[in-house]
Amino acid sequence: MIINTVAGNDNHSRFTDFFQPFLIDESNVKGNFIRLGQAMDVILSRHDYPDSVSRLLAEQAVLACMLSGNLDDGGSLTVQVKGAQQDDAIRGPVGFTVIDVKENGDIRGYADLAPDALTRIRELEKTQEEISLKDLIGEAGFLAITITPAADTQQYQGIVALSGDTLAQAVEEYFTQSEQLQVSIKVSVGKIAEGGKHKWYASGMMIQRVPDLGGKAEKVKLEDDGEDWNRSRILMNTVKNEELLNPTLSPQTLLVRLFNEDGVWVYEPKQLQVNCRCSRERIEDVLGNFPDEDIEEMKHDGVISVSCQFCNKTEVFRDDDIARIRQNAVE
Ligand SMILES: [Zn+2]
Repeated sequence: MIINTVAGNDNHSRFTDFFQPFLIDESNVKGNFIRLGQAMDVILSRHDYPDSVSRLLAEQAVLACMLSGNLDDGGSLTVQVKGAQQDDAIRGPVGFTVIDVKENGDIRGYADLAPDALTRIRELEKTQEEISLKDLIGEAGFLAITITPAADTQQYQGIVALSGDTLAQAVEEYFTQSEQLQVSIKVSVGKIAEGGKHKWYASGMMIQRVPDLGGKAEKVKLEDDGEDWNRSRILMNTVKNEELLNPTLSPQTLLVRLFNEDGVWVYEPKQLQVNCRCSRERIEDVLGNFPDEDIEEMKHDGVISVSCQFCNKTEVFRDDDIARIRQNAVE
């Protein structure tokens, strides 16, 4: 059973940058399917990270989108991955990585690298075939999920240790620990040749066993419910990496392929796009409100430079800009 086949399709033949929620028919299993194409490539091509770092950030972006399904209007969610904070711990070449997702589908992210990161990662690449999460992040890494609601209700933060090999495992653990929910996650990241270039794609599918969705729930015996879950989990895990990533394969086609036997319902998909909160206007507003002596202190070589790590972009304000901003602020 499939409804809606329009959104999530950016030009009628390509299906990328979507969040597609779904429901397995007559069961207590729901899920979502995410594929990032253009958005992933924009985030990663703004920076020149080694491939192992790009992969980590891409996997994190998919997981952050998966977690963003229940955000309130105007709410946002941040996923951070960090190594140990203790002084004696072995630190990885990656200080931390961060991905923000807003309820409207805006995403942004970057990796903070140690000054010697590139040399260290190149050394690792010479000696080992695969670079692990621990190689990048160092000892005792953890994943922090922060949910910021739009209203001034409290922020929520959940932290889970990176004890497994992948970020996806940590997110599965997060669900079991914090929400007592069983989830199963599959993530795939890769480059696809397009127009003479290799572009980054990242995709993932998550299903979760929810307590009660109504419908069949009241009629189902508990042992049947467990069977539904196991079956959905097995079916989802038959998905191939190339099916997850393939931008010409529509989300609906893939979901039917996987769960056809049980039937699958899809909800309206959500579009995902790269969008940062920084802007020259916003910086001008801030600069307009600083006392004169602070403005003087912020100047280096006669100009104020303000950088956005997410966009890897620097806005420069010269004396005449600053005079105009301060004049406007007074008026
Ligand atoms: Zn920015």
